[in-house]
Amino acid sequence: MATISVMKVYKLLPKTNCKECGKSSCMAFAAELAKGDAKVEDCPPIMDPKYDKQRKELEEYLAPVANKGEAHIEIDPEKCDGCGICIVSCPVNPRYASEILSGKSPKYPLEEHQIFQVYDGKAILVKLEHCRRVEGEGRSKNCRICETYCPQDAIKIF
Ligand code: SF4
Ligand code: SF4
Ligand code: SF4
Repeated sequence: MATISVMKVYKLLPKTNCKECGKSSCMAFAAELAKGDAKVEDCPPIMDPKYDKQRKELEEYLAPVANKGEAHIEIDPEKCDGCGICIVSCPVNPRYASEILSGKSPKYPLEEHQIFQVYDGKAILVKLEHCRRVEGEGRSKNCRICETYCPQDAIKIF
């Protein structure tokens, strides 16, 4: 299970404790976000353009848990060593980050459609909706390539 720091999530929220999200405080909302039980857009203030930079950072940080209900893929940050094999082996990623085909790491900031990205030495899930396991025309619901090829046994599909 991906480890998300509630404190780090909290620091990226507006920290006004306005309760518009339906929680008693920003910290309570941060705890929900960290578990993947809330969405960033449930906090109306952070949708204000003045928070664009920190909202983007928050969404990227929460990517491992934000899409957990769609394709049920988790990356264990304790096991992952950032080798990048999941990025190269996933049949979808090179379509959106062609530099992978020549053995290079995908660019940072994150490509818009890329499923995996290695950030700060760990793989994170960025755009899981492009995974073949998520409903879509021509998708193979049985794909387990990233899980199979991860040498650290860090990826779990369930
Ligand atoms: S709506 Fe946003 S700013 Fe307001 S309490 Fe909830 S998390 Fe904090
Ligand atoms: S293949 Fe496994 S160990 Fe390598 S970056 Fe991906 S999740 Fe981490
Ligand atoms: S299950 Fe297949 S399509 Fe989905 S992320 Fe893994 S390798 Fe890519």
